[in-house]
Amino acid sequence: MSKIDRLSKRVAVIDATGCTGCMVCMEFCEFDAIIKVPNPFSDDPMVSSICQVDLLQCTGCAWCAKPCPWDVIQMFNRELVPEEAILEDEEIAERGVLLTAGNLSGE
Ligand code: SF4
Ligand code: SF4
Repeated sequence: MSKIDRLSKRVAVIDATGCTGCMVCMEFCEFDAIIKVPNPFSDDPMVSSICQVDLLQCTGCAWCAKPCPWDVIQMFNRELVPEEAILEDEEIAERGVLLTAGNLSGE
């Protein structure tokens, strides 16, 4: 069975434009699937970095979603994560993480 075959059907997606980088979600992820990345959407030094989900590590457990104080984590069927919502940042892409932004209400 390939790694692709073992990927979960569900994944967590963080709206990068709403994330404050508070890191609460990281405490709830037992799979180390949430990382901090530079915030490309704000010059605010208070939000210099945000959290994003490594979609290849995410198990779809959803433990991170409810605790988010800003309610910017949504669960999606992996196949429905809209490609147009995925912004590729070179530095982040090198780390294998997709940077997601915007309203992902497509489920
Ligand atoms: S808990 Fe929510 S606002 Fe805080 S870092 Fe995680 S996704 Fe961003
Ligand atoms: S859904 Fe589970 S594995 Fe995925 S980022 Fe959230 S807590 Fe981590």
